[in-house]
Amino acid sequence: MERLLIACLLAALAASSVLAGLMARRAARERTRYAELSDLARRLEEQLEHSTRLAEIGGMAAEISHELNQPLTGIRNYARNAFYMLEKRLGDEEEVKANLRLISEQVDRAARIGNRMRELTRQGDRTLSVIDVNSVVRETVDFLMPQMRLSQVEVVTSLADDLPPVRGDRTRLSQVFLNLLTNARHAVEASPVRRLSVRSRREPGAGLPVVLEVADTGVGFSDADARRLFQPFFTTKESGHGLGLSISRSIVTDHGGTIGAESVPGRGATFTVRLPSADEGPAAAAPAAAEETPGQQAGSSTDGGA
Ligand code: ADP
Repeated sequence: MERLLIACLLAALAASSVLAGLMARRAARERTRYAELSDLARRLEEQLEHSTRLAEIGGMAAEISHELNQPLTGIRNYARNAFYMLEKRLGDEEEVKANLRLISEQVDRAARIGNRMRELTRQGDRTLSVIDVNSVVRETVDFLMPQMRLSQVEVVTSLADDLPPVRGDRTRLSQVFLNLLTNARHAVEASPVRRLSVRSRREPGAGLPVVLEVADTGVGFSDADARRLFQPFFTTKESGHGLGLSISRSIVTDHGGTIGAESVPGRGATFTVRLPSADEGPAAAAPAAAEETPGQQAGSSTDGGA
């Protein structure tokens, strides 16, 4: 009986050590699998960040080369005029001088664009600062005004005096407004009424109290397009890249905000950016905030949520 008991105990001990071995091996396998999965997640994250960066740079390069084309075309035309006048002895000295002056203005414009490009590509020093969004909007509108005038687009701004400051990267935020205003300009180009309204307002009590709206009287977008507006490479333009809105969304969510859009097709579109105020904690590192609430306007809307 005693022997039987000992044999049972030994068997139980052996079984438990086999079990412990099995469990240890399983735990080791799980640890390896966990390490592999973490590594995969990290690599995917790096790849995503890299492609987003490439898309941003691609979008900027396209934007800038488009911007530079205008002064360069101007310079070529004014230089040809001056040359023609001198060669054919047409016009007087003042007319030649006027063309040279216009050339010099266009050179200044190209230089300003160059400076802007340097600012935009200075990825290293994304300095966070406390920003008055109204001033970023004003600067962006001023920067685009020559093009707006050329396309005969009326720009109406209405900026709230009591807008709280936000914490963020000024250059990147101005890129968002640049994209929204440029898109709005494109959208109204074929419309009989070409008007953009840029409004800022404070929404007291809201988690994201700094609100900026860019509304236009352009073509608008359909329900089907509303779902894809913020996807990278979605474009309905012949020469579009489909990056402006996806980059804008990633900048806004980086700042802890949201971006959304609504439209009445054929009547216009409104894009709304909502940001946290500077005193409500650090932006830039904050996670994507709550979803945009679609407005009252009938028609297509999207919240561009990440
Ligand atoms: P792109 O301008 O190169 O097409 P975006 O990402 O900036 O890229 O815009 C994607 C698409 O969203 C545009 O092609 C257009 O169809 C639509 N869109 C953007 N802004 C507006 C707007 N204000 N009105 C109507 N459609 C718009």
